[in-house]
Amino acid sequence: MSAQIINGRALAAQIYAELDERVKVLKSKGVTPRVALVLVGYNEMSTRYVSLKQAAATSHSMECIVYHLAEETPQEKLVELIHNLNDDELIHGIMVQMPLPEHMDTTEVLDEIAPTKDIDGLHFCNTGKLLNSLPSIVACTPRAIMRILDNLNVELESSHTVVVGRSTLVGRPIAICLLNSNATVSVCHSHTKNLGEITRTADVLIVAAGNAGLIKADMVKEGAIVIDVGQTSIDGKLYGDVDFDEVSKKAGYITKVTGGVGPMTVAMLMTNLVDCAELSIIKRTNL
Ligand code: NAP
Repeated sequence: MSAQIINGRALAAQIYAELDERVKVLKSKGVTPRVALVLVGYNEMSTRYVSLKQAAATSHSMECIVYHLAEETPQEKLVELIHNLNDDELIHGIMVQMPLPEHMDTTEVLDEIAPTKDIDGLHFCNTGKLLNSLPSIVACTPRAIMRILDNLNVELESSHTVVVGRSTLVGRPIAICLLNSNATVSVCHSHTKNLGEITRTADVLIVAAGNAGLIKADMVKEGAIVIDVGQTSIDGKLYGDVDFDEVSKKAGYITKVTGGVGPMTVAMLMTNLVDCAELSIIKRTNL
């Protein structure tokens, strides 16, 4: 049996079609969704990701301003920029590209972004609301994975889902999203003993470890849904955390790196931006 490949690009195209309609309505009300992307330093992958996000915004009639700060910029300068963007009514979403240079404290920086403009969903206010099952801006990759599972009509209530990775960016929030959908969730990390024994029990396996080829075929249940979030660049080529060639012979559905979770994550960033722009109108009319 060979797995069905989940086409993240096709699903992202559907999402953009929905967004195009919502952007049209916003524009008819005089609002153009506008995002500020902040890049600090010269990390090659980060520069690539920012370009992808900029292209996604501009090709769907949204506006994007990129602020590229030098590697040695003091944290106070970055925070000053964020405060200015928070106060700018024409900006609906702010995203600071990770990783930040070592002299900066990521948590402190993210906490300065206004929660209502936090399109990455990483402010404590948004992560705390998610934890409490309250409406919030959800981080883009977890939101992308949930949309992929929704599109497959996965019955999460009766599923055992295993998440490999416990980062603030992916592992933890996707585990909470799944719990909030009544799935039974196991979370594994680098201290987990006998990883394969746990991943083999997964109906839905989500891997976000940043460890190329970590998941082999003997670690996957026959017919499982396998979502590979990993993206490790080796000699200019991107590799996932799942050994795709082998695991795709055993899984029921599988994402591929590239063309799986990546395009969906960018589409979800744009969805968060449009959500924030729509909420800004509601806030304005309620004043
Ligand atoms: P991260 O912050 O480095 O976290 C990696 C997590 O994986 C950690 O919790 C770590 O455990 C765990 N881990 C590492 N090696 C492991 C192993 N051998 N066995 C079990 N667990 C292991 O990374 P991240 O930000 O979550 O990103 C993960 C990957 O996803 C990266 O490749 C990143 O580039 C990619 N990514 C892709 C997208 C996309 O749109 N496709 C978006 C975001 C991230 P400990 O906590 O114990 O250290």
